[in-house]
Amino acid sequence: MDIRSVQVGNVHIGRGQPVLIAGPCSVENLEMLRQVAAAAVKYGVSILRGGSFKPRTSPYSFQGLGIQGFELLGQVGREFNIPVVSEVMSIEQIPPALEHLDMIQVGARNMHNFPLLSALGRVQKPVLLKRGFMATMEEWLLAAEYLVKEGNDGVVLCERGIRTFEPWTRNTLDISAVPLARMLGGYPVVVDPCHASGRRDLLEPLSMAGLAAGADGIMLEVHPDPDKALSDGGQSLSIPELMELAAKLLARIRFETEN
Ligand code: PEP
Ligand code: MN
Repeated sequence: MDIRSVQVGNVHIGRGQPVLIAGPCSVENLEMLRQVAAAAVKYGVSILRGGSFKPRTSPYSFQGLGIQGFELLGQVGREFNIPVVSEVMSIEQIPPALEHLDMIQVGARNMHNFPLLSALGRVQKPVLLKRGFMATMEEWLLAAEYLVKEGNDGVVLCERGIRTFEPWTRNTLDISAVPLARMLGGYPVVVDPCHASGRRDLLEPLSMAGLAAGADGIMLEVHPDPDKALSDGGQSLSIPELMELAAKLLARIRFETEN
């Protein structure tokens, strides 16, 4: 099946050349977002990510900056001329998301939130639909259909690991999901090795595996000081680590497209 490419700002996902998406797990403040955005642009990242409404397991954990985070993403995206993506968790968060973002993420925990999917199906903005950590391929592709059925065909899927019996990684990256979702759904597929593994030391091999499996993009979490991150520091790259990994991935992508 041909892949339906999706335009996000001036970037095309699924047109043959895989793209890098990177940014902090959570937008914490303007300064850190600017630092990460500057590095992202410098090292060849195409889309800036940052969580602002955060689906945290514990209600006592940092919940994100909410609408203020969307505003910061919009501001920094304009400053550095890079499209921005962030998650919405409920229908009332859609209008501010439309105002400030170039792409809207549906997180793993909301993949089954059908009213949210239907509402996002009625907007003119691309959606990054993450796979639920207990979702089968069929459930994931049907969740995507909720968007398409209402008229939004700007759907990009994101494989972010599924829950298995293995405790040494946060989740288990389902690498076969990448070619399967592309072949059966025709959607571009992005691989998120950070939430799949929970481990910074696995990001390079899992990203490479994603590219080898045909991923249309790789999404990475980055923080200026990962040990002090308010969420997901253990799976986030520092800025020098982003420089190194982005260079390796882009070299791999260039090699593949030229050969
Ligand atoms: C995220 O990408 O910020 C996130 C919360 O991921 P997931 O929904 O896959 O857990
Ligand atoms: Mn995260």
